[in-house]
Amino acid sequence: MKLAVYKGKYVLQGLKEITPEMERDLDSAYEICMSYKDGFPCEMCGRCCRQPNIVVLPEEVDRIAYAAGIPLYNFVTDYIVRTSDGRLLFKKTDPCAFLDKDNRCRIWKDRPEICNDFPYAVSMFMSRVYIALTNDDADILDLIDYMDDSWPCTKIIRSTIAEKVRKAKADRIQP
Ligand code: SF4
Ligand code: SF4
Repeated sequence: MKLAVYKGKYVLQGLKEITPEMERDLDSAYEICMSYKDGFPCEMCGRCCRQPNIVVLPEEVDRIAYAAGIPLYNFVTDYIVRTSDGRLLFKKTDPCAFLDKDNRCRIWKDRPEICNDFPYAVSMFMSRVYIALTNDDADILDLIDYMDDSWPCTKIIRSTIAEKVRKAKADRIQP
């Protein structure tokens, strides 16, 4: 099944292509997501290192195996699982095999891109912000209901996102 992919990495569920009009709204959604990235530092609570969807890109496998000091064959068989839709995930996620007892990542410099992007710039968040921008009936707080308020980063997102979306919608050029 063909999926729309924005900026080469944001998989937009339910969409097959990105038109120029959609691209403009996606750019606004992306800007909102990225506005968080530099704005608030991770508190290293380690909660996101204890959840099931830690995606590894195929091109990251060698690098992570090397950083972890694990022979490639063992890494692929013991640490990675392939999903039915072809994605690669860490097998051990509660906690992640690379989280130490002080909640520090043992492969920090070489961690998967999704760990660096989490939670501000991942597909699910991007898609939800896009829907809120383009659909008057959509409430961004309902759309990001999956975010756990007890996490420091998502708590900030949930308390500030509605205003960011409201402003972006006011500036939006209607199709
Ligand atoms: S849950 Fe958020 S604040 Fe906690 S370690 Fe992960 S990104 Fe940082
Ligand atoms: S690789 Fe590092 S940052 Fe990513 S989930 Fe594991 S311990 Fe956390």
